[in-house]
This record gives sequence, C-alpha cells and structure tokens, in this order.
Amino acid sequence: MKSKPGLGLSAADAELAAGILARQRRPLAKAITLIESTRHDHQARAQALLEKLLPYSGQAEKCLRVGISGVPGVGKSTFIEALGMHLVERSHRVAVLAVDPSSTLSGGAILGDKTRMERLSQREEAFIRPTPTSGSLGGVAEKTREAMLLCEAAGFEIIIVETVGVGQSETAVAGMTDVFVLLQLPNAGDDLQAIKKGIVELADLVVFNKADLDPAAAESAARQMELALHLLRPNSPHWQPRVLQSCAAQGQGIAAFWQAIEDYRKTMQDTGEFAAKRRHQAQAWMWALIDSGLQARFRQHPAVRRELPALATAVEAGEVPPVLAAERLLDCFKEKLHL
Ligand code: GDP
Repeated sequence: MKSKPGLGLSAADAELAAGILARQRRPLAKAITLIESTRHDHQARAQALLEKLLPYSGQAEKCLRVGISGVPGVGKSTFIEALGMHLVERSHRVAVLAVDPSSTLSGGAILGDKTRMERLSQREEAFIRPTPTSGSLGGVAEKTREAMLLCEAAGFEIIIVETVGVGQSETAVAGMTDVFVLLQLPNAGDDLQAIKKGIVELADLVVFNKADLDPAAAESAARQMELALHLLRPNSPHWQPRVLQSCAAQGQGIAAFWQAIEDYRKTMQDTGEFAAKRRHQAQAWMWALIDSGLQARFRQHPAVRRELPALATAVEAGEVPPVLAAERLLDCFKEKLHL
C-alpha cells in the first residue's frame, strides 16, 4: 500500500482517519501502531495520516498536554488513574501515553502491566497506551509526540504523558508538554535525587504523594521543596512553581491539583506564553528531527562508512586529533551533497 505525504491516503487509511476524527479508540490505536512501526511503508502511511490529521490536533485553547514524572513506586499510575477519573467524571476526554527509556532494556517499568489503571481504561472517554517497546529514547519520545497529535485529533483534550524519574526522559517530556509535574515521595532522599538530576528545574508543579503515610514528613518535605524552588530560576517569569500534597490511593489532593493546573493554564494563556511555548516546542522538534535525520544519513553515506572505521581507530589511538577526523568525515559527506 503506497501513500506519500501530500499524495492522499489509501482507502483503508482514509477510513482510519475518519474513524479517528469520529473519536473512535480502535482506529486511533491502529494508527499509533503504524507510527510505532519501523517498516518503511508503515512509516510513509503514518506520516500521510499525521499530515491529514494535524489540522485537527493541538488547538491550544482546547487541548492541554500534561507531563508527569516520578520514580517507580511514587504512585504515578495510581495518581494518573485518580486524576483521569476526576476528569472523565467532569466530561473531559483523557489520553495517557508514556515515555519510558527503560522499556527498551527491561520491557518497561510503566504502563507495561495491563492491570494498571483498570478503572480508567474501562471508560469510553479515556485512552491508555503503553510505551512503544523499541528504539532509543529519542525515537520513543518522537513516537509519543506523534501519538499525542493523533489523540488530540481523536478529540482527547487532555493528554497525560507519563515518564520515569531518571533524568533524560524528563527533558524530552517537558519539551513536548504544556505543563510538567514532578511526583515526589515525602523523604529527603527522593528530593535530593531529583534536584541532583536536574528534574526539579523542569517542574511547574511538585506533588508529594503518599502524604498519608507520614503527614508531618510530607509537610516538611513540601516546605523544603518550596525553599529549593525559590532558589531556582523559574521556567516562566509569570509562574512560581507550586508545591502540593496528595494521597492518590484515596483520591485526596486530586481536585486541588487540577485547580493548580487550571491556574497555570490560565496564567500562561493570559500572558501569551502558552502559545509561544507550543511554537518553540514545534521548532525544537523540527530541529531535533533534522539533527537525527542528518546523523542517520551521515552514518549511511558510503564514503563516510568507508573512512570511518580507520579514522575512529586512529582517534582512539591518539594518532589523529578528533577535530581533524570529524572534519575529514564531514568533507566526505559534503562532497556527495554538493554543498
Ligand atoms: P508507579 O510505579 O509510580 O506507577 O506507582 P504505583 O501507582 O504503581 O503505586 C505504587 C504503590 O504505591 C501501589 O501499591 C499503590 O497502591 C501505592 N500508592 C499509590 N499512591 C499512594 C498514596 O497516596 N498513599 C499510599 N499509602 N500508597 C499509595
């Protein structure tokens, strides 16, 4: 089945697109499978679908993209399920996607287990998609980003992107969402880890979950985090990151959390920052794709492949300076491109 961007869709894919626009979950799941496929023909179909559906996704006033991160066991899926239920009960449609860099190694720490978010997954107004199971972090994040656009075209106006608190993936998720939330355990060790890994800097909201286990510890951790956040430069001049507490297992703190998210959205929209951030993210995404595309083409280039092994060995042995080796390889690449 051939279909190139701009050349229209095959009849089957046109049907998929129509199903997505009619807010059906099955065609949406099928289209995401196409996006995640590494087959060339699937990728071409996925791109054509995306092009067709892009005009229906990401309307800034309607859709909200929320990134949620935290170490395994902090209560992410419990929290997201409670939040999802809170939202669907208020007539919202919610999609949950995941970026999990560990999934490529271990089969996945998040959303791998089907029994997670059982109540939410039974709701028509919710769509839950496990992590793509193959590829580098960059690849997984790219697919999640495209899946997010399809979810929006399917009328899901709140997209939650979940990730594990390991550092790199947070940057990817913060770069594709409107608001980034860090879930924390109320103990000092967890705080320090998050601060050390630079995750706290990305957060617009920090939530201490499991506050029921030791309310005094949660309170003190929250105060300390507030102090730490005041020392960091905020991501926006208009928003000082807030610190909240929750007990997701009992649904406590969820309504206050959503109110804080709404406050954030309103502040950002009123100041024009919301749309500006989206524009900036779209640009950054384009450049990230160009960077990875160029690298892939560079590595496949016949002259580069011919010269690379010897030059790499020479660089390792200290016989050729890295600058010179890079220069030569780039020259090989350039010749064919007529730059
Ligand atoms: P994830 O790995 O971050 O997705 O964490 P889970 O949502 O799977 O939660 C890990 C464990 O913590 C589960 O046994 C939950 O029932 C429990 N849990 C989640 N939230 C809370 C909470 O607010 N209080 C308490 N006491 N337990 C919780």
